[in-house]
Amino acid sequence: SEEKSLNFIEQIIEEDLKSGLSQTKLHFRFPPEPNGYLHIGHASSIALNFGLGIDYQSPVNLRFDDTNPEKEEQEFVDAIKKDVEWLGYTWAEERYASDYFQQLYDWAVLLIKKDKAYVDSQSSEEMATQKGTPTTTGTDSPYRNRSVEENLDLFERMKNGEFEAGTHILRAKIDMKSTNMLMRDPIMYRILHKHHHRTGDSWKIYPMYDWAHGQSDYLEAISHSFCTLEFLPHRELYDWFLDQILDENRLRPKQREFARRNLSHTVVSKRKLQQLVKEKHVNGWDDPRMSTISGLRRRGYTAASLRNFANTIGIAKRDNLINVSVLEFCIREDLNKIAPRVMAVLDPVKLVITNYPEGKEEWLEAENNQEDENAGFRKVPFSRELYIEREDFLEEAPAKFFRLTLGKEVRLKNAYIIKGESVIKDENGNITEIHVTYDTDSLSGSGTEASQRKVSGTLHWVSIQHALEAEVRLYDRLFTDEAPDSYKEKNFLDFVNPNSLEIVTGYVEPSLSTAQNEDKFQFQRLGYFTVDKDSTASKLVFNKTVGLKDAWEE
Ligand code: ATP
Ligand code: MG
Ligand code: MG
Repeated sequence: SEEKSLNFIEQIIEEDLKSGLSQTKLHFRFPPEPNGYLHIGHASSIALNFGLGIDYQSPVNLRFDDTNPEKEEQEFVDAIKKDVEWLGYTWAEERYASDYFQQLYDWAVLLIKKDKAYVDSQSSEEMATQKGTPTTTGTDSPYRNRSVEENLDLFERMKNGEFEAGTHILRAKIDMKSTNMLMRDPIMYRILHKHHHRTGDSWKIYPMYDWAHGQSDYLEAISHSFCTLEFLPHRELYDWFLDQILDENRLRPKQREFARRNLSHTVVSKRKLQQLVKEKHVNGWDDPRMSTISGLRRRGYTAASLRNFANTIGIAKRDNLINVSVLEFCIREDLNKIAPRVMAVLDPVKLVITNYPEGKEEWLEAENNQEDENAGFRKVPFSRELYIEREDFLEEAPAKFFRLTLGKEVRLKNAYIIKGESVIKDENGNITEIHVTYDTDSLSGSGTEASQRKVSGTLHWVSIQHALEAEVRLYDRLFTDEAPDSYKEKNFLDFVNPNSLEIVTGYVEPSLSTAQNEDKFQFQRLGYFTVDKDSTASKLVFNKTVGLKDAWEE
């Protein structure tokens, strides 16, 4: 079998297996905070963790990191589960950090008893000053030497809700002189009189990320806890907390880091995405312009294309910006194989075939997908009056215009060769009708000599009488800048593209009358389109997923 080269995360696992870790102990987790919808950056972490689960046949937990009741909601939990499932992954167990609140509390009491934690009662400003800077050492808090008894009493009363938020916190007693700022007596608990989406009002104190995360990994016997690079300096603290509670007979989880993935012309941060939703720059979390999994899905991205994207960019040790064209390449590649070809006209102008009998109609055979031999054929109606794209006709055209002009021939896709004869214009000089004649012997696929004649181009079209009207939503980049949130002096919202959505009325062939939500098509010569959830039997709505070619390459 083929040797696949291992990435650095897989190498870490292989080395652990070599040094004695049993493969049956491998256990991973994907730990989202339910404070928003998942985005394309999360797809990397999901593909990494669940991909390892598949490769090593190991369980992967879906763990909600729900320690901050101020930002977390059930809606987000539900959306996250839906997205992970849709991406095609199955978790072993659904877990919540909030399920461990009692255990975490008990362990915190243990730390106080071991003189490894204390209650500090200063203002946050005072504590910040004492913390020092990376180049100076910190100063001990005057509360650092509180007695164990006093600490136990205060901590219990914090838990019981006797104090206002901000009056006391619990800190780990580590080292105010550490070169790692995170080791300078980090906060373990803060008081918050907030309703939690799962534990309700039972807790008045909530654990900090660092205190909750590693212990949650430990409780779930996670062997490898993969997180993004900004947590590298947290690793020392992760290990210190584990040291305080570790039972030697149980598996010790290991935190390792990989680079955050950023995508160009968008933002991948739940907080910023939420701001776009709240301030109505977009129409919800699943707006097709959003970098969320649900937005991309609605835009027409397939789960396979997102998995393929994550695997294509792989994982890295350094942060970098992935151009959105890589993502677009992945969806084009998938849709090219699976999307049926149909005809739609989005900027219509009327075309009249003057020598085609009035009242006549023909149902012509059209191939559904030349890339898929099982896709078959369908019939499309042809008649005297058609729509073609306005830009496919020029009255006076340069030599290299391979579309319709007066006196020249082009082919109508799946139909006949036509020749431009004359135009009708309104009082402003705009063309309202193009009159053409057709060659009666030139039907595509008929095998006649006339049908094989070379003409300068092939146009798509729809029969006016048979076409269905459709609302078509055309999207551009949501941000005009490649990295809208990379500027110190500017806010990412300054770069919102005011023209990111254009809605047009188009006409599609009648075979689309039965199209269902999320069905995907190639509108020939225009791009890939998907049926939007707003679509109804009486009003079709399509989203443009992506053009046929990389617009930036042309
Ligand atoms: P956000 O700023 O969007 O809230 P986060 O890291 O705080 O990001 P979490 O819900 O904590 O979001 O993320 C769950 C997991 O996904 C974490 O392990 C996190 O490191 C990873 N992750 C989040 N964003 C990215 C990204 N852009 N690229 C790769 N992994 C990511
Ligand atoms: Mg997080
Ligand atoms: Mg976050």
